[in-house]
Amino acid sequence: MAVPQNRVTRSRRNMRRAHDALVAANPHECPNCGELKRPHHVCASCGHYDDREVVAQAAEVDLDEDAA
Ligand SMILES: [Zn+2]
Repeated sequence: MAVPQNRVTRSRRNMRRAHDALVAANPHECPNCGELKRPHHVCASCGHYDDREVVAQAAEVDLDEDAA
């Protein structure tokens, strides 16, 4: 089994972790529905991208109809 040859100091360990911080998301407002969406991604709520619908949204499903 590989064993570290030298102890990693607190300084070196912390320098390595200096780049590990998470970056906050940068949401943009959808021009079609106004919902917040990820930039350069299709809107999750209305399926629009660049002012046109690219993902068709399913119609509302009536759950009571299946139970009968
Ligand atoms: Zn939208």
